[in-house]
Amino acid sequence: MKVLVIEDNQDIAASIRDYLENSNYSVDIASDGMTGLNLAIARDYCVIILDLGLPDIDGVDICHRIRHDAQHSVPVLMLTARSSLENKLEGFESGADDYLVKPFSLKELAARIKVLSERIGRAPDPRLQIADLTLNANTHEVYRAGKRIELTPSLFRLLMYLMRNPHRVITREELLNAVWQNNPPDSDALRTHLFNLRQLVDRPFDRPLLHTVRGFGFMLTDRNAKD
Ligand code: CA
Repeated sequence: MKVLVIEDNQDIAASIRDYLENSNYSVDIASDGMTGLNLAIARDYCVIILDLGLPDIDGVDICHRIRHDAQHSVPVLMLTARSSLENKLEGFESGADDYLVKPFSLKELAARIKVLSERIGRAPDPRLQIADLTLNANTHEVYRAGKRIELTPSLFRLLMYLMRNPHRVITREELLNAVWQNNPPDSDALRTHLFNLRQLVDRPFDRPLLHTVRGFGFMLTDRNAKD
């Protein structure tokens, strides 16, 4: 069971990590919003603990982007120092599942994580689909036009990120971050991966879905198909 903690206060993040690791969770920490958002979309977590006040992107905004832009159903528990009703409503409207006001007890946090993570079994459809390409985030199965496509873990993460962000240009940097957290095995790794992904997902089929947008990045779409 993997938990992502998006929290800029290092003491709070470390105490959450220590407590949860003792309860047999594995924990990733992101200390800013952008890193957190990329991890949330690229990796599979049972719960995301999201601080409302972050240095770059607001927690409400991150939650909105996880839910609405990426269509991701992972449970989100928001943490905040602010306790007004307004913030609470704003958090829930953005798609948060639960809410804790700082300071909170770690025991209570763990109890809520348990409840939220048990929702995984009855989570909405984990299938992502663009045209005839489908990806199942739970079983890691990818199909195009009814044919099973086998992908390496990095190619799978790359495709999952693209499918969770369809119809928009994604920069090189964003993809690097999504697959390797900006530490690719070598400088050409992304290019090689995109080449390999195209060979498997596009080449055998009549219509390309993965497009290069010259000078900007890449886009997975079945709209305005031009390369
Ligand atoms: Ca904070």
